[in-house]
Amino acid sequence: MSSSFRVYKFGGASVKNAAAVRNVVDIIQNHATEPMVVVVSAMGKTTNALELVIKAVREQDESAIHSSIQTVIDFHRIIGEQLFSEGHEAWKTIEDYFINLRSDAVLHEGETYGELYDRLICYGEMISTFIIHSVLQDSGLNSTWHNTHELVVTDAHHRRATVDFDKTAERVGEHIAPEGVHVVQGFVGATAEGKPTTLGREGSDYTAAVMAYVLDAVEVCIWKDVPGVLTGDPKVFEDVIQLETISFREAIELAYYGASVIHPKTIQPLQRKEIPLWVRSFVSPETPGTCIQKGEWLSPMSPCFIKKDNQVLITLATRDLAFIVEDHLSKIYQIFHQAGVPVNTMQNSAVSSSFCINNDPILVPGLLDELKKHFSVKHNEDVALYTIRHYDQRAVSSIRSKGEVYLEQVTRHTHQMVIKES
Ligand code: ASP
Ligand code: MG
Repeated sequence: MSSSFRVYKFGGASVKNAAAVRNVVDIIQNHATEPMVVVVSAMGKTTNALELVIKAVREQDESAIHSSIQTVIDFHRIIGEQLFSEGHEAWKTIEDYFINLRSDAVLHEGETYGELYDRLICYGEMISTFIIHSVLQDSGLNSTWHNTHELVVTDAHHRRATVDFDKTAERVGEHIAPEGVHVVQGFVGATAEGKPTTLGREGSDYTAAVMAYVLDAVEVCIWKDVPGVLTGDPKVFEDVIQLETISFREAIELAYYGASVIHPKTIQPLQRKEIPLWVRSFVSPETPGTCIQKGEWLSPMSPCFIKKDNQVLITLATRDLAFIVEDHLSKIYQIFHQAGVPVNTMQNSAVSSSFCINNDPILVPGLLDELKKHFSVKHNEDVALYTIRHYDQRAVSSIRSKGEVYLEQVTRHTHQMVIKES
């Protein structure tokens, strides 16, 4: 049964300075008529800045530790100064975070890199959520700040932890009352014993999905600097339009082919409980955005374009020009699997098979050497893989005209082309 919770997620760009924070608080204020969980990332590029702190700690470079922490402190102080007067009570907590970051920035005995990383990287989210929470309170909202270490329970796989949904649901049930605004850190979690973990870079969207899942929320809204999900990257494709709705299934398909829509990991828990996911613009919050939800395909029904650059097309033939049969294919796939190289698309003819893969400079040379032990191998570098979902003739022609087509793969809903661009 669904609750009346809404889950809103604000990423680093939406809280990159004081004006942005005020805008976020306005959005929350305009929508917080029902209980709400607000998931916030670190401000601006703070996570990258903290990665420099962690690097310095690991290298035990005292002067780099000092200066990299000072950068993080200065950045937040400038934002704080524009939001809080000198005697404001928020300063005490904010300055405590700065002090704790300094004293935590030492390598503990026997500590792994992952443990160190997860212990320090969360400062970005801790400080950002505390600032947002304080401004929400100043605006008269009934806001509660939570430490996500106590809410999101994970395994001990540092930097890429897996969420324990049952334990997380229990914790959230204990801590989050169905009223007011609850501000939580994205991206971070902890083991059941309280050891800090994280969910992987850009993991805050996933935190929002986890929260929505355990709360049976009515909707999730990810506020971004784009108006919604488009039918292609406007920097690459002409005439793209904004989608109104996308089905969960279609969103996962688009992500699989390389669209940077929303990570499938974020969609999956929402799909299971059929909780709609909105992508909306914090720049123009009055526009409707795009909704990923239960349903058919997408609307308006139109071709969606995805491009993967820097691909290699490998063509394999048997040495004696014998037919390629299951036996060869299973050998070939085994080699790809062992090299850790996923196949983006493939095509088979009687005596040859072609495989399109990412040109990973570390993995591809070894892969080619291994394939050459068993097959005659040709390969073309610097090709691009274009995928059109829900193609029509016009869409196909527009892509075909981009260069020489080396491979074309057509199924009912998807048209792929490997192209050497002219
Ligand atoms: N702050 C984290 C990152 O930059 C998590 C997130 O933004 O989703 O990766
Ligand atoms: Mg981010």
